[in-house]
Amino acid sequence: MNCLPSLAIHSKGWNVSDKNIESIHRLTATQEGILFHTLEAPDSGVYFEQYSCLLSGPMQQEIFASAWNTVAARHGALRTLFTWEQRSQPLQLVRRNVAVPFDYLDWSTVTEAEQASHLRTLMQLDRDRGFDLTRAPLIRITLIRLDDDRHRMLWSFHHLILDGWSMRLVLSEVMQCYAAAHEGRVSPLQKAPAYADFLTWYEKRNTKSESAYWRDALEGVTAATTLQTAPCNVPISGQRGSRTHLQHKIPGEIQDQLKESARQNSLTLNTLVIGAWAVLLSRYAESNDVVFGTTVAGRPPDLEGVEAMAGLFINTLALRARLDEGQPTVEFLRELQRTQTAMQAFQQTPLTVAQRCSDIPPGSSLLNSLVVFENFPAKDKGANKELLKIDDEMYFEYSNFPLALLVVPGEDLEIIAVFDPQAYSDKCIERLLRQLDVLLRSMAITLDDPVGSLPILPSEEKQQQLEAWNDTVMDLGEFKPLNRIVAEWAIKQPAAVAVTDGSIELSYSELMQAVRRLATRLSVAGAKPGGAVVVYTDRSVDSIVAVLAVLESSAAYVVVDPAYPAARFSLVLEDLATSGGVPPVVVTQSHLRDRVLESCSNVVCLDGNSAPIDNTIPDYLIEREAPAYIMYTSGSTGRPKGVVVSHGNLFNSTRARRQFYSGKLDAFLLLSSLATDSSVAGMFWALAEGGRLVVPRPRAEQDLDSLGALIRDCKVSHTLCVPTLYSLMLDGIPSETLQSLRWVVVAGEACDRKVAEKHFRQLPGAQLANEYGPSEATVWATAAILNQDSLQRGISIGGPIANTRVYVLDQRNRPQPTGARGELYIAGANVASGYFCKNDATDAAFLPDPFAGNGLMYRTGDRVRWMEDGQLEFIGRVDHQLKVRGFRIEPAEIESALTSHTDITEAVVLLESGDDADTLTELLRTLPASDAERLLVEAEASRADAS
Ligand code: AMP
Ligand code: MG
Repeated sequence: MNCLPSLAIHSKGWNVSDKNIESIHRLTATQEGILFHTLEAPDSGVYFEQYSCLLSGPMQQEIFASAWNTVAARHGALRTLFTWEQRSQPLQLVRRNVAVPFDYLDWSTVTEAEQASHLRTLMQLDRDRGFDLTRAPLIRITLIRLDDDRHRMLWSFHHLILDGWSMRLVLSEVMQCYAAAHEGRVSPLQKAPAYADFLTWYEKRNTKSESAYWRDALEGVTAATTLQTAPCNVPISGQRGSRTHLQHKIPGEIQDQLKESARQNSLTLNTLVIGAWAVLLSRYAESNDVVFGTTVAGRPPDLEGVEAMAGLFINTLALRARLDEGQPTVEFLRELQRTQTAMQAFQQTPLTVAQRCSDIPPGSSLLNSLVVFENFPAKDKGANKELLKIDDEMYFEYSNFPLALLVVPGEDLEIIAVFDPQAYSDKCIERLLRQLDVLLRSMAITLDDPVGSLPILPSEEKQQQLEAWNDTVMDLGEFKPLNRIVAEWAIKQPAAVAVTDGSIELSYSELMQAVRRLATRLSVAGAKPGGAVVVYTDRSVDSIVAVLAVLESSAAYVVVDPAYPAARFSLVLEDLATSGGVPPVVVTQSHLRDRVLESCSNVVCLDGNSAPIDNTIPDYLIEREAPAYIMYTSGSTGRPKGVVVSHGNLFNSTRARRQFYSGKLDAFLLLSSLATDSSVAGMFWALAEGGRLVVPRPRAEQDLDSLGALIRDCKVSHTLCVPTLYSLMLDGIPSETLQSLRWVVVAGEACDRKVAEKHFRQLPGAQLANEYGPSEATVWATAAILNQDSLQRGISIGGPIANTRVYVLDQRNRPQPTGARGELYIAGANVASGYFCKNDATDAAFLPDPFAGNGLMYRTGDRVRWMEDGQLEFIGRVDHQLKVRGFRIEPAEIESALTSHTDITEAVVLLESGDDADTLTELLRTLPASDAERLLVEAEASRADAS
């Protein structure tokens, strides 16, 4: 035997001349890896392999047991143990003689159902028992009598000593030995080649060129390619390293077609399956450059007798696949096959070496998933001739990767997913297997289609995402412009308080009188259907009158916040003037009159007006499509964009609240600037429900004592604000003061879990909702009611609201797999018609909805994913857009403003804040206006100076 001489020195306590030691060897890198992971999680069952099958035919247990011992005598691997304690390096020792542990059980008197349940228990107990790696052999057999003709065999072994190929080899030899002995023949087996020869070859192999190859292959790989699925909805339990199995069968006829397809194109079935996995992974990871593990047989072709050796040869290699969406699938596969062939020369490079050759930071793993193509005859048909017929095989393998796919060609093409239940849910893996099925079926038909157009989603999954989770069609009542709904309340409950700032109060009837009065003046000034009126007021009772009056005059309102720089005002005016051809009407308050730009000739001051009600104001019919308001948001081209929202959008957006939020709305506290669309939510929600709208003075958020008093005194039941502000309120206002709150809605930016936790601690009596939506989809598109349980899973933005559909799509506008990240698109009744006078921007963001009717879908630029319950998780932006205190900011807008200054050639705008919401909160506490807002102001001022 080839015992490495140098090792005799290290083999403390072991003497090779010891009668029962045949040889001592170092471990291969794969063995070291397996040993490491086994010792790291000793109770997990990792790498403890179980094979079980049904044996039909004449059984003599003693002869069967002795066949096992004969085969153990042939192969060193079946007599090997491991030792590592107090050693610089682990070693494997081959015993001369071992007795294979053999148990015989008789279950012939119990029912088949009981036999099945006994087997499950037995296998579990056997797994729990595991192996003591320091004792040989690392295999054991249990033979169970089921009836006269049938036995079940359970064979357990540790992966350290055998791979799948060797397992088949050993099994076949046992069957042959048994048949010969049973029939009184001599064993037909030739002398077995020794695994030790491979270990010697392994030590001596040329490793010089390895690093160069792997460096070249893995250059620029900086992170493992992961599946990026949603956090699974399973409780984190189970042992570290435990594994779950799920199996999927691709029918034999599809497998035949795949083989034929492969053959015609000089490819292998292996490459087709591996290619399919690469495609699926790339879709999940949204990357055209993916890396995953593949297991190679590891048997060096130049080593004599290597196919007949039993031992552990396999190795895991990192396979990198680069996809070009437009490339025909067949060419992509040829490329992949070339890579696989080139890798063969380096099939024994330890994964750790390959990892060092990549650009992955030390300590992070290179591979997240593994494909094992069982490239040996799956079932030894020859064994059938050997007396005992093998059926109903079960093979459990445990791997250390979060996800491994065992691909076993046979009658059907079997794919077994072995995965970490803490990383993936069963549902997620079931879906994944079905997606692989869809891909392979399409590849079975043709390999000519471009890689990018290969389908992955089964129709059920598409149906679930596109239909079931979007089943939101709802009759929200007869359409009416919102101002008319408010007018109806003035008739139903004229004396009820409609708007208050804590001191001034307007009843519904007073409100409508003021609205009609102002509307008349606006009409006289030129406000009319199809036109727009600029509302330039502080947040106040007056401003509500102004907004409603504009609607009543049948024009659309555009709010310019007086806190914004003059440049913003003039941009809006320019837009309006270009489109209308006449100077737009501006409605303002007397204290702001001086700040209205000189270019405005058509100014109506809303206070101090005592003109009598003029009933001659034309009573236009307001259509659904008529614009209700234009909401300006930051634009990346350097000019803000105005989103045109119709009365139909506003009606749906507002009425959907009735259906989503339970209970009566008494009083709503308006915390947003009227220049953001969050203000639309509260203003119309409250007034369309006949509730009280509480309007704090501008910047009231900065005086939490007064704000608390206002909430208490006005008995505020509902409010909506950005989570950062809500967090400040919870910190700064005593909970007793907030007792009237029944619904708190956080919206406008991602809600931190800490804010929700604080809410449930401090205001357990109030409900908390998270609303998501861009201005382009009229305030909100999805919403979630948060509760303490849901916090465990992270904060969701919920599902689509009434008459709204949402899609999570990839870059080619195809639905992403459930759980995978994609871009969110919104369709339905809330989607605005586009940007004011900006056709190009409109065409880029509002696309024909390919999934339903002839409507439009809005491309949000937000990254989300579907969770298993049909709710969405918000992930972030696909671009650089920022939200600061609910204000939507395109850094590019500020950059473009800065570079328009003659002295500035280049500018980069970054948000300076930690990831930590607390840091941002702290920043907001100390600054009256956020950094970014101020930057915006300064930038626009500088542009105004420059021009
Ligand atoms: P705006 O048009 O100003 O309402 O801003 C819309 C953007 O704010 C969205 O596209 C998101 O990026 C972000 N946003 C709004 N609501 C949420 C939310 N609940 N969670 C996370 N982000 C949000
Ligand atoms: Mg919003």
